[in-house]
Amino acid sequence: MERYCRECGKLIYGRSDKLYCDDSCRNSYNNSREREYRIEIEAINQSLKRNFKILKELTNRGKRRVSKEILTSLGFDFRYFTSIRREKGGKIVMQCYNYSYVNGSNGSVYISIKNN
Ligand SMILES: [Zn+2]
Repeated sequence: MERYCRECGKLIYGRSDKLYCDDSCRNSYNNSREREYRIEIEAINQSLKRNFKILKELTNRGKRRVSKEILTSLGFDFRYFTSIRREKGGKIVMQCYNYSYVNGSNGSVYISIKNN
């Protein structure tokens, strides 16, 4: 069966498990894949960092209850958090690093700091 280099698409000669024509193609393929991973991960890390900063600044100013609209207007991205848990009674608690928040039924978000 003919095989083609993952990087440049040229026909590969030699061992049947070869995926690239040479080291240069293998390195180039792996580097671009790593770059792709980094870009995707970095975008999510930026959102988590922004969420963290918003929670930190609000609590530093003494705000523990804030509306979802305000959080959204500050750039908070509700899709991203570092963990989630369901407490006894069904309350869902999202964690963004050392900050926790709960969505209240009234459109408010309740923030707390986890000290450890
Ligand atoms: Zn190649």
